[in-house]
Amino acid sequence: MPTKSTPDTRFVHAHQLDPESQAVVPPVYRATTYHQADPWNPPPFDYSRSGNPTRNALESALALIEGGVRGFAFASGMAAITASFLLLETGDHVIVSEDCQGGTQRLLRGVFSRFGISASYANTDSVEHLERVRRPNTKAILVENFSNPFLHVADIPRIVRWAHKYDIDVWVDNTFITPYLQNPLNLGADLVLHSGTKMIGGHSDVTAGLAVARESGLAERLYFIQNAAGAILSPDDAYTVHRGLRTLPVRMRHASATALELAQTLQDHPAVTTVYYPGLQDHPGHEVALRTIETERGFGQMVTFRLKSPDLVTKMASRLRWARIGAGLGGTETIVSLPELHCHAALTSDERRIREITGDVVRVSLGLEDPTDIIADFSQALRL
Ligand code: PLP
Repeated sequence: MPTKSTPDTRFVHAHQLDPESQAVVPPVYRATTYHQADPWNPPPFDYSRSGNPTRNALESALALIEGGVRGFAFASGMAAITASFLLLETGDHVIVSEDCQGGTQRLLRGVFSRFGISASYANTDSVEHLERVRRPNTKAILVENFSNPFLHVADIPRIVRWAHKYDIDVWVDNTFITPYLQNPLNLGADLVLHSGTKMIGGHSDVTAGLAVARESGLAERLYFIQNAAGAILSPDDAYTVHRGLRTLPVRMRHASATALELAQTLQDHPAVTTVYYPGLQDHPGHEVALRTIETERGFGQMVTFRLKSPDLVTKMASRLRWARIGAGLGGTETIVSLPELHCHAALTSDERRIREITGDVVRVSLGLEDPTDIIADFSQALRL
């Protein structure tokens, strides 16, 4: 690819043409094993868990887009997060965004705590909060950006400056922002993670996880874990995710524009008490977003809001005609999730109460429908 390219072009052309066939999209290599005519001088691929050309095309494209040295594709977003925690040792401590998806908390509480890895949760809006929970054995901080479900915006450059002073690695789960709106490695983070199931896959038809490391030392350790633990993405799924990656900019622009319109409409709605959308000027993270993400491309496709009562949520759910209801986000269709029942069901009811994830909270992932239809759908579903 020519060295200077605009973002849309970079997403389309981030992979090499297939060297054998010159195919314009990466062929799907299902082979698990590769003939070694000279076993003492083996070819680049030998066994599919260790490396696969279709997965490799996706991993290399994402590394190029994110500005890192090496990409990794896993069987799910949770597999990518698990591989990151496997970088830690017994006795290590991690700090995690308190407003993060339930799966990460379930993994730390139910699995990694059994291996002597402890976690503290903190509001990643400010480094003062992080300083309060830092311990001498803190080795990494996992920042979810934007956070889920309340869309807090983390100041990645500031967090990096604070963390690196103490040799703490910064890992950013950038699923909600996507590599189109921000590349945290260019802001100094050490590792960027994505649930490829969401915006990057983009069509609600593939489960995947992705990671890119900024430096080769971390990349080598992560590769060891990917190969040793083996939670790799299949060639067919790697193909599907890669297809999604190529159209991400166009989808993000459309869905982000609709998200802003919906957020502005909801702000004035009598059934709504609070709208959480970083594109709104009164959102606490608006200034940080302007400084740290490519906001001229949009503020993302997620909007969260609070209704006057849980009863209104029930009514809204029964009236929506276009929007789908369930766990998930980042697809072509608008998806409404009720955090209490869906993305944060893995939390205990006490944890949900402390984090104010109650029955009146609604999270929307805007899709690719005509914005007029979607705004009209919410307007009719929320009528009092
Ligand atoms: N990270 C974020 C921000 C998520 O929202 C999710 C899932 O909801 C995950 C990671 C986990 O991804 P997956 O469902 O692909 O395992």
